[in-house]
Amino acid sequence: MPDTAAATLLIDGRWQSAPATFDVVDPASLAVLGQAADAGPEQARDALAAAARAARGWADTDPETRSGHLRAAAAGIRARQGELAALLSRENGKPLAEANGELAGAARMLEWAAEEGRRAYGRVTPANAAGPGLVLRAPVGPVLAITPWNFPASMLIRKVGLALAAGCPVIAKPAEQTPLIATALLEIVQDTGLPNGVLQSLTTTRPAELVGALLADRRLRKVSFTGSTEVGLGLLRQTGDILRRTSLEMGGHSPAIVFEDADLEAAAAGVVTGKFFNAGQSCTAVNRLYVHESVRDDLLSLIEKKTAALKVGRGDAEDTNIGPLIDEAGLAKVENQVADAVGKGARVLVGGNRWTDSALPGHFFEPTVLADVTPDMLISHEETFGPVLAVATFRTDDEAVELANATDYGLAAYVFGTDLRRIWRTLDRLDFGVFGVNDPAPVRPELPFGGQKNSGQEREGGAEGIDAYTETKAVALRF
Ligand code: ADP
Repeated sequence: MPDTAAATLLIDGRWQSAPATFDVVDPASLAVLGQAADAGPEQARDALAAAARAARGWADTDPETRSGHLRAAAAGIRARQGELAALLSRENGKPLAEANGELAGAARMLEWAAEEGRRAYGRVTPANAAGPGLVLRAPVGPVLAITPWNFPASMLIRKVGLALAAGCPVIAKPAEQTPLIATALLEIVQDTGLPNGVLQSLTTTRPAELVGALLADRRLRKVSFTGSTEVGLGLLRQTGDILRRTSLEMGGHSPAIVFEDADLEAAAAGVVTGKFFNAGQSCTAVNRLYVHESVRDDLLSLIEKKTAALKVGRGDAEDTNIGPLIDEAGLAKVENQVADAVGKGARVLVGGNRWTDSALPGHFFEPTVLADVTPDMLISHEETFGPVLAVATFRTDDEAVELANATDYGLAAYVFGTDLRRIWRTLDRLDFGVFGVNDPAPVRPELPFGGQKNSGQEREGGAEGIDAYTETKAVALRF
């Protein structure tokens, strides 16, 4: 357990601080919430050495024991959920209800990992003249888990839970904006009595330098990254001559298609949730709405009403639906996309500006709906990561699919309608990895999560989530 405020580094079973620390800032009030240790390459090397020492023992630990740690960690999160949600909301800015939901989801993910880790089955192939064959699955070895600030609990716990369940030691590298909730959660996991070296955590303001030191070492066998496409592609480029497993969960630019036979009230509610959850700072956020032209006006008037009713404020204030964006750069990007769209003819139906309040100097933007959006606008192809919905219409199903697929991203897509045959045909032709059919929240522990194209590779969750942390060994037997 960390015994001083900035002892946020976990290395070889011991919480420690570093010569330098950095401030953690509340994005709503800009007040300093606390300090975290600023680790560098030296601590990274110590962490990897500890993980490498622990790898054989953890791989040999029976899966039932590993599962026991994960179930205990899930119970630990549930027991302290209220206190953890308050911290998560303050550090990231998200509404308290969303923070609670994220933590409950993290606990469920740990339980899924605990169950699925015990089912990492192999196969026996039919015997030929020599004998049968076996397909075995072995833990890949030390894993580096790099996680973002937007879902600082669930992204971290998903990687840590699945890797530990599969038998891999982990070095967690939480985002510099949200190290405190990460530390609190990893403390719960460590306190289940994990052997030294099975879990490490490195907080830092120098991710490139620290991660570079780890990537240069062959003992690191896997990188699991969630964050921007730019940084993810950079990690792939740094691979050099050390080939290792790499899972990437990167940006998205999700379309939502609303057919004319949809339940419009439910579709409007779904689009508003899918867009404005976490103030739009989610890689699965609805970025582009394509609505059939015959129901556009009806749908938009419902969306307009629901959006105008959203309450902006501190995440931990009662009734807040939209908290601050994480930083000034995020806010400037949103503002630029809105100005570009309006300059090219988009109509602002709701919002459109920075949201200001003299008591809250943080980075807020009004929930915004833009109609008449066209493909030449930045918002049609650049991820927004903010509370702005871009709306366009379609006439035919072919046109809807073509518009939806016209992006380098391929993470999540949403379809609202009632005609199952039409929905099925559409899903079949959309190049995305995750789908919500009349469902704005398509992320579940049982389902593999991940994208196509520049949104990523490999999957997290589902049975595939354990696969991502195992190597395959094929064994030919001759009797
Ligand atoms: P975002 O733009 O959402 O902050 P980033 O991709 O910058 O996303 O950050 C996601 C995670 O990647 C964070 O943990 C961050 O510290 C880490 N990161 C940022 N830059 C690098 C880098 N050059 N090498 C490795 N990790 C990085």
